[in-house]
Amino acid sequence: MKKIIIFTLLIGSATTLINSNDKQQIIENKIHEEHGMKKLFAPWRTKYTNGEAHKNDGTEKRDECSFCTQLDEQDDEKYFILKRFKYNFVMLNRYPYNAGHLLIISLEHKKNLYDLSPEARQELIELSSHCTKIVQDILKPAAMNIGINLGKIAGAGMPAHLHMHILPRWLGDTNFLPVFGQTKVISIDLTTVYKQLKPSFDALEI
Ligand SMILES: [Zn+2]
Repeated sequence: MKKIIIFTLLIGSATTLINSNDKQQIIENKIHEEHGMKKLFAPWRTKYTNGEAHKNDGTEKRDECSFCTQLDEQDDEKYFILKRFKYNFVMLNRYPYNAGHLLIISLEHKKNLYDLSPEARQELIELSSHCTKIVQDILKPAAMNIGINLGKIAGAGMPAHLHMHILPRWLGDTNFLPVFGQTKVISIDLTTVYKQLKPSFDALEI
């Protein structure tokens, strides 16, 4: 529970930062630092937060949902889908806060945890365990945030379709990301990270 709350704060605040001007960002960074909370600032996410995520309000039907349309295309490599399981699938977040930012997403277009069957919820939690182990073994982050944002106000970019974030963290990532984070670099990283993680997911049976 503690991790989920912390992550909700992280994503919500980061979204606020991206949509603000530089001066506001500096002020907010200062406020957060004074409260002992350093934020990931991911400028390459602006296109996403100002576009797709901005207009999503949680009322999207299945045919308006990019998770569902990506699933339907059956081109998993194109969308960085690492594996489909019985009730959920795992993919790289195409708009990551950090390299190796995974999403565990229900196969069904459902909004809430209580909309899922007990079996789907159990698999979601089981997958969170496996995903953190794989990320730890392959990418060796210093730490990880995991969590679910329920609803737009809580920070969900795709509030109509339940998904859990697995976010690797490295010491100092709050500092170097604003300097080196560019869309092009991150898209190269997506392909590289996908290839790094894919064999472990291919071998994973739950
Ligand atoms: Zn969906």
